[in-house]
Amino acid sequence: MFENLSERLSGVFDRLTKQGALSEDDVRTAMREVRVALLEADVSLPVARDFIKAVEKKATGAAVTKSVTPGQQVIKIVHDELIAVLSGDEDPGRLKIDNPPAPVLMVGLQGGGKTTTTAKIAKRLKEREGKKVLMASLDVNRPAAMEQLAILGTQIGVDTLPIVKGEDPVAIAKRAKTQASLGGYDVYLLDTAGRLSIDEELMAQVEAVRDVANPRETLLVVDGLTGQDAVTTAENFDSRIGITGVVLTRMDGDGRGGAALSMRAITGKPIRFVGLGEKMDALETFEPQRIAGRILG
Ligand code: GDP
Repeated sequence: MFENLSERLSGVFDRLTKQGALSEDDVRTAMREVRVALLEADVSLPVARDFIKAVEKKATGAAVTKSVTPGQQVIKIVHDELIAVLSGDEDPGRLKIDNPPAPVLMVGLQGGGKTTTTAKIAKRLKEREGKKVLMASLDVNRPAAMEQLAILGTQIGVDTLPIVKGEDPVAIAKRAKTQASLGGYDVYLLDTAGRLSIDEELMAQVEAVRDVANPRETLLVVDGLTGQDAVTTAENFDSRIGITGVVLTRMDGDGRGGAALSMRAITGKPIRFVGLGEKMDALETFEPQRIAGRILG
């Protein structure tokens, strides 16, 4: 199992003489341990490298007060830097959905948790913000996915756009907009189709939907356990579609959350929510402190 970073570092520093400030050598030795911890947490190599460079700069020469050990001091610097990189929006859980009806586009690969997350967000908007929400599935190639959204809608008490056989995604998006306006909805969530991998057909379809929907928010849903693949997916979707935020699912799993750091560092997009299970309540606003603690172990 993972050895936590504090233990690793105290081992390193026990062997060093106590000094008034962290020397370059102390810091270099410590950074080797930090690097291993980051890579074990599934942070991508270039991100880990840049991160360590930044920490090294801050840590070298930092004063060590009597109340903390050099190891604790380094951990604090690493922790603060993790928070700095991970922090995006002040309030990541507040979607920009004024001027009703506000369209929100949900995008991502098949199996990432898009449909589940769409319903979780709908429930949250309804219960916490008192919004009237409409959901629509655009996954015309997978009738089961369309039905899944309708079932979740019934379960959480949120309306779904009735399914019309043979309609294409752009037509569904237009109908959702009309229905949302006529029905006095505050927000409508468009659950786009997913594929097993990114392909031209998928991207062209999502792009066409984006152009008619003109979404206020475009949220990418990715499996947080897939590490670097999640980051590559985000880069692809962002360059083609433009995303306003990321939802990392399966953060209830064994992963150490390193994907979150790589995601922020590489795409620059804020992580808005994390999925913590299959249940409709298992969605939380992203909190940098939590993930930082998890990455450090
Ligand atoms: P989609 O193909 O992207 O729409 O994915 P689904 O929403 O159908 O989700 C695929 C599977 O992952 C389902 O069995 C979900 O219950 C499950 N799932 C979604 N989000 C989470 C999560 O945060 N944690 C866990 N453990 N499972 C999740």
